[in-house]
Amino acid sequence: MTCPTGKRIFDTRAQARALRKQHPGAPRRAYYCDACHGWHLGRLTRPVKHGVAHNRDAT
Ligand SMILES: [Zn+2]
Repeated sequence: MTCPTGKRIFDTRAQARALRKQHPGAPRRAYYCDACHGWHLGRLTRPVKHGVAHNRDAT
């Protein structure tokens, strides 16, 4: 599976948060990505904010 954001994809929120624990203090947070239906660490990227991740709002 690939994601337009190019970020690493986690199957579950727990997996993303587990990795985050290995980087204390890092400005990362787990968030759900509508583009790939997975979880990422970090801020929402521009592609996610503008179009790619708005599939559920399309219809
Ligand atoms: Zn994604």
